[in-house]
Amino acid sequence: MSGIDDLPPLRQVIDEHGLSARKSLGQNFLLDLNLTARIARVAGDLSGCDVLEVGPGPGGLTRGLLASGARRVLAVEKDARCIPALQQIAAAYPGRLEVIHGDALEVDVLAHLSGDVRVVANLPYNIGTELLVRWLTPPEWPPFWRSLTLMFQREVAQRIVAVPGSKAYGRLAILAQWRCDVRIALSLPPEAFTPPPKVSSAVVHLTALPAPRFEADAAMLSRVVAMAFNQRRKMLRAALKGMGPDIEDHLNAAGIAPTTRAEQVPLEGFCALAQSLKGL
Ligand code: SAM
Repeated sequence: MSGIDDLPPLRQVIDEHGLSARKSLGQNFLLDLNLTARIARVAGDLSGCDVLEVGPGPGGLTRGLLASGARRVLAVEKDARCIPALQQIAAAYPGRLEVIHGDALEVDVLAHLSGDVRVVANLPYNIGTELLVRWLTPPEWPPFWRSLTLMFQREVAQRIVAVPGSKAYGRLAILAQWRCDVRIALSLPPEAFTPPPKVSSAVVHLTALPAPRFEADAAMLSRVVAMAFNQRRKMLRAALKGMGPDIEDHLNAAGIAPTTRAEQVPLEGFCALAQSLKGL
C-alpha cells in the first residue's frame, strides 16, 4: 500500500511490469505519490471534472488525480507496456479511469470527454510544446478545456509566463497569455524524477479566459508573431518586411515605433498590429 490509495508502490509496479524508462518516449517518471497528489491539487477541485492526462506511464499522476477526487480520468499512453499497470488502477477506481493506448498527437480525445474538462499531465518533453500550441490554437474559443496543468522543462515553462523585455519572451508567451491566465505553480529539481532528466522542471497552470484579452485575428496574430520573433534582434520594420511594403504604416497605426524589436512589444501591441494587418 502506498499512502494515497490501496495500490502497490510505484517502484513495485515498475518492477512487476518491466517498465524500464525509455528515453525515446520521454519517460521520466514521478514515483512519489505525495508529489503527484500535490500536482493534482494545482489543478483545483476536480470533483465535477473530466480530466485528460497525456502520458500516464506507470500511473503516479493518474493515481494522484483519482485520489484527489477527479470524476473521470481519460489517460492516453503510447507505451503498450504501461497499459496493464494502468488497467489495475482502473479496476481500483471502477468507472472512473478510461485508458487509451495510442499517440496523443493522433487520438481524438473529444469523443471521450464531456462537461468541465481539465488537462493535467507530466508531458513527454519531445511533444510537450506541440501539444500546448494545439490546445492554445483551437478553431474556436473558448476551447474544450477550462485549464491546463502541465509539467515542462523549466526553460519552456519560463517561455510561457515570460514578460516583454525578457529573453524568454516570444511566440509561446503571446499565444498563451493572449487567451489564458498563466502561472508557474511548482518547480521541481531533476531528482524528483526517475530517471532524473538533465534539467529542472516546472508545472505551469493555464486557465482559459472566456474571450481573448485583446481583439485580434488568431491566424494573423500567429503569423505576425512568428515572423517578428524569427529575427528577434532586428528592428520590426526589417523583421516584418515580408508582410508588405507598407509595414511601417501598419506599425505606426498599431502605436509601435518601426525601430522597436519584437521582444519589447507587449501583447496588446501585437494584437493591434494583427488587427491592422487583417485581410493581407
Ligand atoms: N505521467 C507519468 C509520470 O508522471 O510518472 C509519466 C510521465 S513521462 C514524462 C511521459 C509519458 O508520456 C511516458 O509514459 C511516455 O510513454 C508517454 N508518451 C510519450 N509519447 C507519447 C505520445 N505521443 N502519446 C501518448 N503518450 C506518450
